[in-house]
Amino acid sequence: MKETNVITVEALFQPANAVYQLVDRMGRVVHVRQDLIDDNKLEMLEGQLSLTASQYEAWFKIEELRRMDEALFRPNIYRFFEHRKFLLAHPELCHKYSNKFGAYSYMSFAPCLGALALSFTMAERVHACPECGESAHLFYAVGSVLSGMSTQFFICENANCQKEHTIKSGGMSGLVAYFRKVEEMYLVMYPNVRNYSSKQFSVILESFPLS
Ligand SMILES: [Zn+2]
Repeated sequence: MKETNVITVEALFQPANAVYQLVDRMGRVVHVRQDLIDDNKLEMLEGQLSLTASQYEAWFKIEELRRMDEALFRPNIYRFFEHRKFLLAHPELCHKYSNKFGAYSYMSFAPCLGALALSFTMAERVHACPECGESAHLFYAVGSVLSGMSTQFFICENANCQKEHTIKSGGMSGLVAYFRKVEEMYLVMYPNVRNYSSKQFSVILESFPLS
């Protein structure tokens, strides 16, 4: 008897990255490496793949877990700031890229976590916290192509405040250039960082010393 639990997903092969983009009926998107699709002997038919329930679970659940881990960054932004020197001393934790920090627009630049920690110690992109007046540090910027404006996100360095605030301003290209510069500086200081595996935020957070 034919397995009843076949789940059909839309599939699009992306040759540049050797991945398949899969979209389920609920519009959830995951990317699966070509070799996994081949190993599972799945064949694309009219832009669709038929997955077994376990294949579907495995691939879409992994993506779900990744999203859950990514979601840990923002609520813990102060802890990443607070442990900036610890991060600089531990490059094995810093080969970590995420779309939760960096500059994003029609041109984007995502620095690694180590470069973000370096940026925090340099304190070059700071803005007075509207809550307490102390310095708040840039960690994320998102630009609008239509207006040319960027929304910039800052975390206050004051341990008693820890507030996040945003400002809107122009100059998205300057922000992209800034994060690129810090990444280059970080890679000069820690050229081995790329040899380390990328860690989950949950693992990095657990590595921080108790303060
Ligand atoms: Zn503050």
